[in-house]
Amino acid sequence: MMNTEQCMEKTEQYVLHTYNRNKIALERGKGVYLYDAEGKKYLDFAAGIAVFALGYGNEDYNQALKDQIDRIIHTSNLYYNLPLADAAEKVVKASGMDKVFFTNSGTEAIEGAIKTARKYAWLKDQRTDHEIIAMKNSFHGRSLGALSVTGNAHYQEPFKPLIGGIKFADFNDLESVKLQITDRTCAIILETVQGEGGIYPADPEFLKGVRALCDEHDILMILDEIQCGMGRTGSMFAWQDYGVQPDVMTCAKALGCGIPVGAFVLNKKTAEHSLVPGDHGTTYGGNPLACAAVSKVFDIFREQKITEHVREIAPYLEEKLDELVDKYDSVAARRGKGLMQGLVITGKPVGEVINKAIGHGLLVISAGSDVLRLVPPLVIEKEHVDEMISILEKCL
Ligand SMILES: *Cc1c(COP(=O)(O)O)cnc(C)c1O
Repeated sequence: MMNTEQCMEKTEQYVLHTYNRNKIALERGKGVYLYDAEGKKYLDFAAGIAVFALGYGNEDYNQALKDQIDRIIHTSNLYYNLPLADAAEKVVKASGMDKVFFTNSGTEAIEGAIKTARKYAWLKDQRTDHEIIAMKNSFHGRSLGALSVTGNAHYQEPFKPLIGGIKFADFNDLESVKLQITDRTCAIILETVQGEGGIYPADPEFLKGVRALCDEHDILMILDEIQCGMGRTGSMFAWQDYGVQPDVMTCAKALGCGIPVGAFVLNKKTAEHSLVPGDHGTTYGGNPLACAAVSKVFDIFREQKITEHVREIAPYLEEKLDELVDKYDSVAARRGKGLMQGLVITGKPVGEVINKAIGHGLLVISAGSDVLRLVPPLVIEKEHVDEMISILEKCL
């Protein structure tokens, strides 16, 4: 077996260098801990970027995947498959929406949402100059459509021209959204809680205001729940806490808890007036293995009362993080919702804190330019919060 040094060398020799990776090679996991190739133990407050909600080595989850592998892994969307039917029912019922389309990633879910919005508007007026309003400081993915609605000039610039008709407004500023609305606007897309941009939850009044604008002008409201969805904020989907429902929701990350899968989910109005056979497709999307994972994830969420657990543990995490804000000059503020929290680091690069934490056996990641992001598995207990805090204190 390779050690970390050999693994790093081989990776850098053969894998396109698009990531500056942390210098550890993770080999296995148990619960909320990960182990590298040398057997060093890490407390995981990153969860593979908000993916591994159930903790590592969940026997029930692993067994469901093994069973599905032995039955069938792939069939294609030319046929019906059993796990797809089950997974779809669970996503639709959990969201109270109407229809789902499974993808392989988050960015593809965004592509589907954009196509849905354009088709919905096109059916009304057959125009081909529809516009989408997106938010500054947002993140929706790296494929060209998703990148086009990602409000980050640095990510966009080298890849222009992007798709046309995209306008940007300020997150949590309803007036700035209103200013961008025209008779060609077909959708407003936003994250319920901005993740990569630095952990900014939407203000309730803002989200309700966007919903009202969309209703007034028959514009589709697209909520990107790829990072903040699937229980992370304490409800199955973050918008469920706000008393609004989107017309289109995108999901990925924790949807399959490690199996690559995403989805876009439509309400009835949108499902009945948008994509039809021939409009959209995918070879892998909704495949039996991915859907067996999705289906099992929803079962485990119900059985282990995951959202209830998040609501129980999150106030404790917030309290402990707020203590750091009080205690350390280098921690300017805390922002977040549920188990999606950020600490604003000042006076030193956030990367320095992250590197020190890794050295002390704690995995945390950044968001934006100066935010330390905490997105642990949703099954963490108070003792793990305490352990995280005591390691972080050594790094501040
Ligand atoms: C991660 C993320 C995406 C992109 O998902 P990928 O699976 O990496 O393509 C889109 N939107 C949000 C909010 C995300 O956090």
